[in-house]
This record gives sequence, structure tokens and C-alpha cells, in this order.
Amino acid sequence: MALGEFNLIERYFSRQAGRDDVALAVGDDAALLRPKPGQALVVSVDTLLSGVHFPESTAPADIGYKALAVNLSDLAAMGAEPAWVTLALTLPEADPDWLAGFSAGFFELAQRHDVALVGGDTCHGPLSVTVQIMGWAPPEQTLKRSGARVGDGIYVTGCIGDAGLGLRLAQGGIEPVEGDDYFIRRLNRPTPRIGAGLALRGIASAAIDVSDGLAADLGHILDQSGVAAVIDVAALPVASRLKAQAPSRWWQWPLTAGDDYELCFTVAAANEARLSAALGEIDCPFTRIGEIEAGRGLSLRLEDGRRLEMNSQGYRHFE
Ligand code: ADP
Ligand code: MG
Repeated sequence: MALGEFNLIERYFSRQAGRDDVALAVGDDAALLRPKPGQALVVSVDTLLSGVHFPESTAPADIGYKALAVNLSDLAAMGAEPAWVTLALTLPEADPDWLAGFSAGFFELAQRHDVALVGGDTCHGPLSVTVQIMGWAPPEQTLKRSGARVGDGIYVTGCIGDAGLGLRLAQGGIEPVEGDDYFIRRLNRPTPRIGAGLALRGIASAAIDVSDGLAADLGHILDQSGVAAVIDVAALPVASRLKAQAPSRWWQWPLTAGDDYELCFTVAAANEARLSAALGEIDCPFTRIGEIEAGRGLSLRLEDGRRLEMNSQGYRHFE
């Protein structure tokens, strides 16, 4: 590489941690971090591959932003507070413009959530970005996939399907109209629902982030909780632009498109008032889209009242 590995790390990835739980960050053989007594350390890792997790044309700043955003989203879905990240980068070349853009996007989001980059690894090869994130949660208040119970309401934050529309726009599969930049931004710069995850502690019975498609992700809650669910298609919060794009079976889109990084969660009837108060306080939009039932599998209540068993599993790797 033109730019030496150490030079590169020094120039683009060594920043003051700004957290007093970081004793030693980038530069030594390993980072030294101070755990929080009484709390569970919540850890997750995600890799982003060019052409798989983002279109090859994606701007470096958006890649840097999204690599962190998808990891923050996993912590949000656990009800955890993010603290530290490590970054494993494989780069085809040490391009200063690419690195400046990537690190700007990455640190913009890191600062917003007070997350410190404490270490990583840098290799030469086809572009691949792996972020490992660590954070905190009181162990008894984490939001697991396994806690949904019969009768719980099913909810999502925000709007579902926006990023899927953004992907089609980015791929040139749809003729863009004015305002469509919004959907491209939803694809490239998803907003991790950290605040909502924290607010849902002790309120949601189960939670997951919507990364592979609502049907597939809710499916994980159903499998791990040993329950079934019905989704009210008419209730799905979907942009009118998206409905206009697929007038007849528009609801297939939000159920199968991924990359929204909204939260899907379940809440017992007894906690509904607390839910409204908690998410209202942080101005987080949310919608009740169905309920948990006894049995197995996901069905849809269509707009004409008919029920349909759902078996499409959204986007899966290796298929
Ligand atoms: P080692 O040979 O011990 O693995 P490296 O040369 O890979 O060490 O890394 C040197 C230091 O730079 C370490 O502290 C490592 O955590 C950090 N580092 C390497 N790559 C990155 C990166 N992309 N982002 C942040 N820190 C990094
Ligand atoms: Mg190394």
C-alpha cells in the first residue's frame, strides 16, 4: 500500500476516546477497558461486504456510517447502551480520499452516540468492513428474542420498506421522482434506534432489529419464543411513495425488504400505557402491527379480512 499501515491507522483511526472507561485505545497490542460493575457486557459483530451489504457505488462516508450504524442497531435491539467499537478493515488500496470519507462517516455517528474506537486491524484485499461493538445493559432488562407471549402486541418503530425502495432506486430499477433522495438516505444512513431500545427496557417482552426483512426478523422472535403471530397488513407503516410503486400487493415489499434498521418488538397488554409514555417522551414514532398468537408461524390479515400464511423468509445469505 502506498500509505503505510501504521501511518494509515495513525492518520485516520487514532482519535481521543473521550470516555473515562477507556484506559488504553488504538496503538498498543490490545485495548484496556474498564467494565461496569453489575452490568452485562453486550457484544456484537457485523461485516459489510461491497455488493452484498451496500451497492458498489456507495460513497465511502456512507460505508463508514453504515458499518457502525448496523452494529449500533444490534445493541439497540438488546436494549443496550453502546460504549466501544473495534474496526477490522480489508482494503484493496490505501486511497487517502476513500479513507478520509470513510473515517468521517464513521466518526460522525460514533460521536453522536459517544462510542469510542478502541482498536482494530487493517489488511490488504477485497473491500470488507467488520465492526465489533460493545456496550452495557442491566442483565435482567435486556431485550431478548425469546420473550414474546401469546396476547402481546407486535410493534415497529418508524417506517418499514424505505431502505428497500432506496436500494431499488440506487440500482436504477425505479424511475426516480423528486424527494426520492430521502429513500437513498434511509438505505445509506439508517438511524439506529438506540434511544428506543433503552426506553423499551422493562417494557418490551422481545425485540429484534429489522435488517433482513420484517417477516424474517419477526420470524426469529416467533421461533425463539415458540409462538405464532398475525400481522394486520393495513396497519403497516409504509411510505405512500412505496404503496404507489406496487399498488396491488404493496405489503409484500415492507415484509421482505431489508436494511431499515427499525426495531420490531412485542409488548404485553398490561404495559401498553408505559410503552406510549416511554416512546412518546423521546419522540420515537411507533405502530402496532399485529399480535402474538398460540401456535407456530406468521400469518397476514389482508385488507379484505382474509388470512394468508406467510412463508417467504425475506433476504437470506447463501440462497
Ligand atoms: P497487531 O500486529 O498487534 O495486530 P496492528 O498492527 O494490527 O497490531 O495494530 C496496531 C494498533 O492499531 C492496534 O492497537 C490496533 O488495535 C490498531 N488498529 C489497527 N487497525 C485499526 C483500525 N482499522 N481501526 C482502529 N484501530 C486499528
Ligand atoms: Mg493486527
